[in-house]
Amino acid sequence: MHEVGIAEELVRQVVAAACGMARVTEVAVDVGALQWVDSDALRQAFDAASQDTIAEGARLELREVPPRAVCGACAAVYVPEELGIYVCPACGAAEPEFVEGNDIVLVSLECLSPEEENRESY
Ligand SMILES: [Zn+2]
Repeated sequence: MHEVGIAEELVRQVVAAACGMARVTEVAVDVGALQWVDSDALRQAFDAASQDTIAEGARLELREVPPRAVCGACAAVYVPEELGIYVCPACGAAEPEFVEGNDIVLVSLECLSPEEENRESY
């Protein structure tokens, strides 16, 4: 369940990024496929971690980023066909260095400013 740690880190970033806002309504996150994140578990962990913060109740928009590798032997760039099988299609070496698909990145936030929040509650 490393989703809990990821969710806590995301909430920290969201709260910092939404400074001055009243409420966060949506959080878009790119999830690298190599992180092996379970999206349901991540959503649950995010809900739990965001309680009593301005991100409480925010919708989590997850986008899976496929891995992209650079071959350590011949420098070919390739997308592994299957997770767990990282053999270079050009030379057959299994020395991938991943340039994409390895990170969890906070992409964007949708927030309500204090004025908008007030307007909504009338
Ligand atoms: Zn290669």
